[in-house]
Amino acid sequence: MTPESLARAVARDRRPEPAGPETARRYVNQWVEREALGSDEVRAFVLILKTRGCYWADLKGCSMCGYAKDTLGRSATPAELAEQLARALDRYHDEPYVKVYTSGSFLDDREVDRSSRRAIATAFSGRARRLLFETLPEFATAETLAPLREAFAGELEVALGLETTDPVVLARFVHKSASPTEYLEAADRVRALGLRAKGYLLLKPPYLTEEESVADVLASIERAAPHFDTLSVNPVHIQNGTVVEWLYHRGRYRPPWLWSVVEVLRRGAGTRGTTRLVSFPTAGGLRRGPHNCGTCDAGVLEAIETASLTQEFSPLDALDCPCRARWESHRALEPLGVEA
Ligand code: SF4
Ligand SMILES: [Zn+2]
Repeated sequence: MTPESLARAVARDRRPEPAGPETARRYVNQWVEREALGSDEVRAFVLILKTRGCYWADLKGCSMCGYAKDTLGRSATPAELAEQLARALDRYHDEPYVKVYTSGSFLDDREVDRSSRRAIATAFSGRARRLLFETLPEFATAETLAPLREAFAGELEVALGLETTDPVVLARFVHKSASPTEYLEAADRVRALGLRAKGYLLLKPPYLTEEESVADVLASIERAAPHFDTLSVNPVHIQNGTVVEWLYHRGRYRPPWLWSVVEVLRRGAGTRGTTRLVSFPTAGGLRRGPHNCGTCDAGVLEAIETASLTQEFSPLDALDCPCRARWESHRALEPLGVEA
């Protein structure tokens, strides 16, 4: 099976049937996590709304993304979105940082209509200092962003899943719909409107070796930093119903080592300029997430989180474990087809 036909087959299989009204009244998930606003460590309220999801996931989808399973299989009505918001607000305790995700693009009218977007921004206005949402680059325009800027008294942060600045890696291995240039231009538009731009970089897309993926993220940090206020390195974790999972089950994919995350933060710290560089690995230390030997994982994850919050990267230099030598061998031998 070619990577192209594999991606389309996986996309076909994972799409949910259109959901009934009861499902549509409930958001996907909500939690509170550690974050930073400047030098202040704060609590962030994270909300994942249930919407029709990413249109690109219907057509082909990205090789590591399984968010389609958290979607409705149809657009949510404004009333359904209002009910999801009301339920979430019951659990909101004025956390200063609010992140609203949709398993797709918050600015795509098919996912969240304009009046619902405005209602969401208004609901957190005056209570949160910063409101973040994620979108594909084509929806980040003055037309979609200006009404939200009016509705929210605070900082708006627009997150863009750039993943890599290498056009070949982005198109052929990650399977994104847009080019790196379109992401960088969207970040420029966002900042020209006075909003913050956050970029996600993907560590270890399928079909890259560990060594290639470290080099890819380092090059991407250097190239993207002038366009973003924050760059967040997301090491791949294996989500259900994805190309990455298909490869993993056939022994053709291992999630990245946490040492690779440490490496890109340490070396990226020197090329990021004034851009914040962070990483909060999902499923860190688990078999299907970025992991080391199992013994050092918790300590390394804690150090990665602390460095991300404080922007002090030198403590990462002191991390060590016998498995670090195995990671070094793996990086050297993997391109030769030999497992360390
Ligand atoms: S990673 Fe983003 S663009 Fe790609 S399929 Fe998932 S939600 Fe859509
Ligand atoms: Zn270890």
